[in-house]
Amino acid sequence: MGQGSESIGWDDGEDGYAVMAESECIAMRSAYDAAKAAKVGSMIHCPTCRKRFLKRSYQQAFCRNKGRGNCKDRFHNTVSETRRERAIAFSS
Ligand SMILES: [Zn+2]
Repeated sequence: MGQGSESIGWDDGEDGYAVMAESECIAMRSAYDAAKAAKVGSMIHCPTCRKRFLKRSYQQAFCRNKGRGNCKDRFHNTVSETRRERAIAFSS
């Protein structure tokens, strides 16, 4: 709960890129939802790196949420990046 707006304006997959990104994004989001819904003390999968770890607090959804390039930041970067132009991120 918390995020009520589900107005994602996908321009249905022009050349395969957006389709790929979208399904990847959806998979991460569903893993995130599952992690959020899991009980404290149960084993969950990190939505970003898919590592299994023990959920220690009710709001925890990632194996790491501190430091550089942690899974929480990477998750949010990926989710917001794929909403925009994905091609740009892979140009270098
Ligand atoms: Zn992780």
